[in-house]
This record gives sequence, C-alpha cells and structure tokens, in this order.
Amino acid sequence: MASKKLAPFGTSIFSEMSTLAVKHEAINLSQGFPDFEGPSELIEWACEALRSGNNQYARSMGHPRLVSAIAEKALRDHGLVYDPYTEVVVTSGGTEAIASTILSLIEPGDEVILLEPFYDSYLPCVAMAGGVPRFTTLRAPRFEVDLDELRSLFTARTRLLILNTPHNPTGKVFTRQELELIAKCVEDHDGVVLSDEVYEHLTFGNARHVPMASVPGMRERTISIGSTGKTFSLTGWKVGWATGPERLIRAVQSAHQFVTFATATPLQLAVAKALTTQGEAYFKRFCEEYTERRDYLVAALRDVGFDPVTPDGAYFVLAGFSRLSSLDDCAFARELVVKHKVAAIPPSVFYAARPGEGRKLLRFAFCKKMETLRAAAARLQAMAGRTPGFL
Ligand code: PMP
Repeated sequence: MASKKLAPFGTSIFSEMSTLAVKHEAINLSQGFPDFEGPSELIEWACEALRSGNNQYARSMGHPRLVSAIAEKALRDHGLVYDPYTEVVVTSGGTEAIASTILSLIEPGDEVILLEPFYDSYLPCVAMAGGVPRFTTLRAPRFEVDLDELRSLFTARTRLLILNTPHNPTGKVFTRQELELIAKCVEDHDGVVLSDEVYEHLTFGNARHVPMASVPGMRERTISIGSTGKTFSLTGWKVGWATGPERLIRAVQSAHQFVTFATATPLQLAVAKALTTQGEAYFKRFCEEYTERRDYLVAALRDVGFDPVTPDGAYFVLAGFSRLSSLDDCAFARELVVKHKVAAIPPSVFYAARPGEGRKLLRFAFCKKMETLRAAAARLQAMAGRTPGFL
C-alpha cells in the first residue's frame, strides 16, 4: 500500500483513460502521445549508438555530447548561457526533472505555489517532498493570472513557484509581460521558479515562447525543464533535462543521482545529434503540421456543439460541453469513451482549489495523425446525431 503522502492521488487519470480507450476500442485523444513515429534519422542514430558500444551508464549529469548540445541550444534559441558541465542535468524525461527539482529543493513545510489547472505530476511530487501546496486559478476562457490572488499566496515559507509555458492543459502561452509580473513576486520573496517548458517548440500563429529564465534577474532563480518527447515526437524515449544556475543544478543533481542516476546512453547520443542538426526548417514544418491538426480539431469540436478554446501552444484543446450534456466532466468522459468511442481527459483532475472550474470541460489531444482526428470527428458527429461529412 502506498504511503499516506501518495494515497490521495490514486491511479493517474492518463492510465485510467488509456485503459478504458483500449477496452472500448476508442480513438484515444486522452493521453498526449503522438500516434506517428518521430523522425526516422533519429531512430537510425539511436540504432547506430546501440550498435557501437554505447550501452553502459552515461555520466550521471548527462553525456558530454548531450549537455553540450543543450547548452548550445539555450544560447542559440534564447541567448541564455549555461555551463554544460555544471548548469545542465539530463534526466529521464521532463517528469524526472520535475521530481528531482522538487525533491531536492523542498524541505518539509516549505510552501510551493501552483497555478491550476496544472500538469498532474506536480502535486504528488510536492507531497512526496513534504511541501505545502498553495493554489491560484487561471480562469477560462483567457486563463489569465489573478495577480492579487498570486501575491496573497507568498509567505516567509514560500520556496518555489511552478510555472508551465506553453501550458498543458489550457494551451496558454505566457507573455513576457505576464512573466515579468510573476517574476517580480518571486524576486520580492526570494523564491525559485521551476519553469516547465517541455512544449517550447509548439506555439501557433503569433504566439511566441518566452523562457522564464530570459526575464531580467530570473536566470539566477529559475530551473528550466525541457524534453525531447514533444519536440521530436518520441515520448517513449524519456530524455529530458534541467538547466539553471550552478547552485540550483547542484541541488537537482543531488536528487537525480539517487532517483535514476543516469539516462539511457544511446538515446542521449541520438538526441545530442538531433539538437545540433535539426534546424529552423524542422521546427517550421513541425509547427505547420500541428497548426493544421489544431485547426481541424477545434473546428470539428465546434461543429458538433462543443465550445473549444483555441490553444496558442502545446497540443491540447480544452472544450466546454455544457450544450451537449448536463453530466460532470468525469461522467461525460466515461460516457464518451464507452458509448461514442472517443477518449478525452476530464480536466477537473488538474485542479485542487477550484475543481468546479474544470467540471464542464474536456481536454482533447491533437498530437495525432489527421486520419485519426478525422475518424474522431466522425464519431463525435454520430454522437451529435449529425450526418458524417465534416471537412
Ligand atoms: N510537463 C508537462 C506539462 C507535460 O505535459 C509532460 C508530458 N505530458 C511532461 C512535463 C513530461 O514530459 P516527459 O514525457 O519528457 O517526462
């Protein structure tokens, strides 16, 4: 039986919905993993690395080639300078970077500020560290930060604020101005930001990703989290990283060395090559393809009576369903998967203080082939009693 710290969290909603999707042969728009392969050259590079004797533990903080590639990328993309050997840690996915950051920085009783709705691993990690979570709510439809509420959460015990931009599940991309206002609160209370930026390359239209570490004064108090899962459509590789000032990265490493010690060596080598060779053309095409998927899913949802909020980033759509059902999000998600064979996530699980905010919404993932999205649209049309034929 899990300890008292973990007992309240039960089974992750992603496992639950994916299991239901398999059982009911549903189209799975619940969990955020692509149903297509990542670039074939990366898979070749991983095979080459496997065949050429790179199968023992890597350097704990990351293979020299990968930490160098990550530091070069931060400089090239954002003008951020990190020492590859002291200010970068390679982890087993963004998930491990989040866990190792929280476990290493939080003393029992320290307060951690979360902006809800939030990615589901944050709260259990805070609980495992003995931290005390404090919540502020990003409210639909624009999901803006309530600065007065945010300011009121800071106390002498505040240690960490967890930020996620581009944001899962809302698709919000925080503007520089918003980040500056959040940064001011953190600086005034001598706090640290864990900035989860695993969707940094997924922004649409005029939205641009702004790293928290690029806000003046914040490089010294921000741990930025990245991952290759989203960027290269290889979520199963679980290669992520944390970058930050040496004093904070030393702390993250002190947890990382005992959590996983090191990340799969051949995959690190393939990712190092990808980060140094995949340039602007790759990312341009990547965003164009995702824009097409986003636009299609938003239009398809609207067409059958959902009220989707068009996301500026990441690969999820939050859609209101008040016009389609009087159920709450968990019951409607179950009905959708069992009766109509489309799986989505009930987002009330991403809230702690105000779960009511998510009860009339569902989260759909669009990191799927166009044919998968078309098939899902046809099933949703059948649910709404419409003749198929949309788009
Ligand atoms: N942060 C956010 C906001 C995510 O959505 C995810 C993955 N769904 C992660 C972190 C975890 O990334 P990884 O798969 O690299 O562990």
